[in-house]
Amino acid sequence: MDNVALWRAVLGEIELMVSQGNFVTWFKNTRLIKVDDNEVVIGAPNIFIKQQLERKFSDIINQTLIKNGVAADRVEYKILPASSLHRKFEDRPVVLGHEGSSRPNTAASSSLTHSYRQGLSEKYTFDNFIVGSGNELAHAACRAISQSPGAKYNPLFVYGGVGIGKTHLIQAVGNEILAQNKGRSIVYISTEQFVQEFLDAIRYKKNTDFAGYYRTADVLIIDDIQFIAGKEKTQEEFFHTFNALHQANKQIIISSDTRPKDIPTLTDRLRSRFEWGMAIDMQSPDFETRCVIVQSKAQAHEVDLPHDLVEYLAGFIQTNIRELEGALNQLIAFSEMRKLTPTVELAQALFGSQKSRPKHITARQVVEKTAKHFHVSVEELIGPKRDKEIVVPRQIAMYIIRNELHMSFPKIARELGRKDHTTAIHSIDKIGKEQAFDPDVRSAIGAIKERLSV
Ligand code: ADP
Ligand code: MG
Repeated sequence: MDNVALWRAVLGEIELMVSQGNFVTWFKNTRLIKVDDNEVVIGAPNIFIKQQLERKFSDIINQTLIKNGVAADRVEYKILPASSLHRKFEDRPVVLGHEGSSRPNTAASSSLTHSYRQGLSEKYTFDNFIVGSGNELAHAACRAISQSPGAKYNPLFVYGGVGIGKTHLIQAVGNEILAQNKGRSIVYISTEQFVQEFLDAIRYKKNTDFAGYYRTADVLIIDDIQFIAGKEKTQEEFFHTFNALHQANKQIIISSDTRPKDIPTLTDRLRSRFEWGMAIDMQSPDFETRCVIVQSKAQAHEVDLPHDLVEYLAGFIQTNIRELEGALNQLIAFSEMRKLTPTVELAQALFGSQKSRPKHITARQVVEKTAKHFHVSVEELIGPKRDKEIVVPRQIAMYIIRNELHMSFPKIARELGRKDHTTAIHSIDKIGKEQAFDPDVRSAIGAIKERLSV
């Protein structure tokens, strides 16, 4: 198996384990440079991504490599030369009128704040977005916006569950506007990145630079705004950005996993801004639509799938299109590697039993395994008790969910039966610090993770 195919298989699995924002930000432009028994070398586009991969994602990467048959003594990370990036990758940089050559590349701060922005990915277009039940309305609104940005539905707020096409659709708007007018400055950013850049800007005292950058966009597309919950300073900054753009009739597009009023700790003034325009709910596509999606994704790989296999896949994964696509990619990579024709039998062999399905840990599983480890019940863990015997396991469960599933704080709080997401923030912070010096906490986390991986 060559490095490209191997890495595609590894990334296919990782994509199922981390949030879309994390995947696009940290993994998309990585490459496998070298594999042998002694060493695996992974290439990252810049120092920032390299460090994050080493610090935050090395466990996931190592496990996934092992699952794909690579057990090397060490895994190293290197920065890819810029030239190889331009040649190999499909992403084009964000088009920005004012981002000239004046930005020094050497200062750590500037490479942190600007070189890792991914912006728009050409792979998300209206052409390859399948319209069907669940996404029709959002699609129509996005189409309308791409024809006359800023004119109506401003802001457009699309919300819905994971993997149902929000990012695809809002990126398609940006790509379409650019296709019609190359001179437009379109900024796409995930909220996680926005928060990070804002913090960096303060830290390196580049606040004005940061503000100016976003306020001069013609179209601002901000993904997964739920992650701004609890981040007061960032909310304030975003409020000003929003106003500046809105007053200038610039289009703002926002996505979220819930409607504005359900994002916890969102300041009222920001919430009311989000409700100014149009909020559209997206749902998972129905079976027929999923079949068409599978077919079109397979065609993009130039693979013909028999009809029963298309139906098998569309029936097998029902809500999350990202998972559906992940399963399809795995199937295609596997059949290419083994030189087999993709069939229902092959898919069943790959995904049929729960065990061999792409590992997708749920928050509930973490709660269950944590309860088991500490000999307490799930009910106690998610219930009102505040005894130390319950509180610490509860906090550990939150910590593991955050680190393994990269879930948002409000969701984590909900999984553990807490109303207030700040509980999750404090718990995760506390355990994060404790595990650094407390071997008991560390070994508990290790043991629970072990239970999760079997
Ligand atoms: P979300 O942002 O809602 O979590 P994404 O936009 O990332 O979901 O979609 C997940 C994957 O599923 C993407 O690769 C996307 O291309 C694909 N996808 C989702 N809906 C559709 C659709 N209607 N047509 C084609 N591809 C889709
Ligand atoms: Mg998304």
